[in-house]
Amino acid sequence: MTGPSPRDDIRAMSGYHSPQVEVAVRLNTNESPFPPPTAWVEELAAVAGRTAWNRYPDREATGLRAVIASRHGVEPGNIFVANGSNEVLQTIMLAYGGAGRTVATFEPTYQMYAQIARVTGATVVSGERRDDHTLDAREVRRVVSEHSPSITMLCNPNNPTGTVEPRANLEALLGATDALVVVDEAYAEFSEWSAVPMVNQHPNLVVTRTFSKTLSLAALRVGYAIAPAAVVEALSVAVLPYHLDAFKQAATMAALGHVAEMNERVAVICSERRRIEEGLGALGLEVFPSGANFVLFRTDDAPAVWNGLLAEGVLVRDCSGWDRLAGCLRVTVGSGEENGIFLGALGRVLAGVRG
Ligand SMILES: *Cc1c(COP(=O)(O)O)cnc(C)c1O
Repeated sequence: MTGPSPRDDIRAMSGYHSPQVEVAVRLNTNESPFPPPTAWVEELAAVAGRTAWNRYPDREATGLRAVIASRHGVEPGNIFVANGSNEVLQTIMLAYGGAGRTVATFEPTYQMYAQIARVTGATVVSGERRDDHTLDAREVRRVVSEHSPSITMLCNPNNPTGTVEPRANLEALLGATDALVVVDEAYAEFSEWSAVPMVNQHPNLVVTRTFSKTLSLAALRVGYAIAPAAVVEALSVAVLPYHLDAFKQAATMAALGHVAEMNERVAVICSERRRIEEGLGALGLEVFPSGANFVLFRTDDAPAVWNGLLAEGVLVRDCSGWDRLAGCLRVTVGSGEENGIFLGALGRVLAGVRG
């Protein structure tokens, strides 16, 4: 007996695959290795106690948007918040993409752009990056003029390569199109520059951020966009009413009272990132420079290395099956202890694989 048929395009897709395996050292999804501040966790009971559970939440997330706006020196009307930046991206695609429209990506990049674009009915076109994974301004202009995408996605720093995009390339992209340009800054805190100050100079520029990485709150599911007010209005039309629950709004506002503590950890992550880059280089591996909390590197036999690490209790991301990333694995920067375990395990695994 066969069940009801999903859309043909959905049936042809495979969904998001990052294995959730129970291991001692989990370095595969770019989470923070540090828990959020204890003081915040202790506030949560009071936050729950103050929540009017029988009422629908503030649909406009007024208080939360005001706090986020002041953090970035913009107006609350420039902020759209949702359940993780993936939901922000989905809402952008619902409002500006969809059937009959095209979404452009530059590969290799975050796979969810193409996935969400297709699920929401758009056509996806992929441009190429240079060998160093930065954008090529000529290729950007070619993609935009040939396909007139309604949305062009740029991930900076880029996941999974870690590449920090030269600012001139974003300027070239903005010069090439009046349609929406989305810069996903999930890792901006680890990087050298941000496009946030450019938002109010370009009516078509949106920057997305997340609480999942630097802010140690992947479990809470909160992300946001900094965007021109007209874009925020369009997103508010596309998103479901009351999509952001009352507890989450209040818990996130409370978390923003502890950003100084969370930001201190960025320096630790960046210095651990250098340690990993040097350790990988010392093992004779090709390492791609990273401005994020992860490092992409190339091995001769990625599946064997991935399995060998797993056997040692270390989970990394196998990117070797992606187009343009043959042989590549991506490791998230963990705690100092975890990174030591990873580098030690990798040395043993490579010795075995290389015979
Ligand atoms: C991790 C990540 C996100 C974050 O997604 P959330 O839904 O906010 O957890 C968004 N974009 C990129 C490129 C990421 O790597």
